[in-house]
Amino acid sequence: MELLIQTCQFCGSKGVRNLLVRKHGEEDKVYVQCKRCRALVARYIIAHRGYYHHGKGFESYLRGLNRGGEVISPKDLREAFQKVEDYCIEEFEKITSQLEEESDNSTTHN
Ligand SMILES: [Zn+2]
Repeated sequence: MELLIQTCQFCGSKGVRNLLVRKHGEEDKVYVQCKRCRALVARYIIAHRGYYHHGKGFESYLRGLNRGGEVISPKDLREAFQKVEDYCIEEFEKITSQLEEESDNSTTHN
């Protein structure tokens, strides 16, 4: 797994903020802005069913699907939400433990 920390290509800062943009009839987008120099760093388009807001629960997930105009049975919705939640938690744990390992290694070598 390749893991990158978003860095501003103009000033080298790792301090960025995500601006979530929702427009009717368009995919949700995230603009990443550098907090130091204010430049645009990147833009992401959120995939269909791609947004998961941790700790916000099932209703938040439903609102996201609703914005996409999706019709799906209640049972399937529950299962889909549970899968997304489990997957995100599991992957985030892998990511943070990989980051910790990498920072331990760089401390040892320096
Ligand atoms: Zn910058």
